[in-house]
Amino acid sequence: MLILTCPYCGIAADETELHPGGEAHVVRAGPEADEDTFEAYLFQRANPRGVHFERWRHSHGCGKWFHAARDTLTMQVHGTYPAQVTEPPQDILDAIEEARAR
Ligand SMILES: [Zn+2]
Repeated sequence: MLILTCPYCGIAADETELHPGGEAHVVRAGPEADEDTFEAYLFQRANPRGVHFERWRHSHGCGKWFHAARDTLTMQVHGTYPAQVTEPPQDILDAIEEARAR
């Protein structure tokens, strides 16, 4: 079972309390974007074998969106962080590097 700790309320919630929101850190295509860029924004997503940065909503808790770094092979969660950032925080990146070094 997937368990993620909500960075807002600190509750370790299982997947039945959460709602997935897809890939995190997707950059929106602006009104000046060409069709290929807009198509990529709408439909193209990473599907990595390994660490994936994802959006989740604590739907049966505080209701807020947050991001999680999860390994799609091992289901190991490297950490969660608020959704109001444009890139993963350094402590999450350090945790990923530490897991890879083992
Ligand atoms: Zn919460």
